[in-house]
Amino acid sequence: MIAGTDKVVTFHYRLNEPDQEVTEDSRDAEPMVYLHGHQGMLKGLEEALEGKKASDQFTITLSPDQAYGPLRDDAVQRVSMKHIINPSKKKIKYKPGMTVQVNTAHGPRDVIVKKVGLKNMDVDTNHPLAGKTLVFEVEVLDVREATAEEVAHGHVHGEGGHQH
Ligand code: ZN
Repeated sequence: MIAGTDKVVTFHYRLNEPDQEVTEDSRDAEPMVYLHGHQGMLKGLEEALEGKKASDQFTITLSPDQAYGPLRDDAVQRVSMKHIINPSKKKIKYKPGMTVQVNTAHGPRDVIVKKVGLKNMDVDTNHPLAGKTLVFEVEVLDVREATAEEVAHGHVHGEGGHQH
């Protein structure tokens, strides 16, 4: 079976920037699983996966526009400390450069701490990979037909997907 609209695709990837060390390797955790054609995957990566089948391997370089977009100058925002997500419940000493999660109207979002105050924090809401050219080394593990329910929901159920 080949990857295309309404197929569930499982793959391993290694992510790095050109001429840099590997920054992310899915083999350290779980493979990536997504429903093709439902905006659940980086567009450039999804296009490259189209037509691929299990055991196919390829490397693709994505420009910032094909990946997480350009760096925006206006992306620094002041947020209240109460919107910072701290799952550990322990007090964290926040420092500039740390990545934290902020609750937004669109759900949790990774941001980078710029400046820490008492009640507020200035954070950079650019995606940590914004403005970067990314190289993905991909190995397709599995392609299967999505269930009618998965297509209706627009996401994968079961292992690696939504558990509900
Ligand atoms: Zn669902």
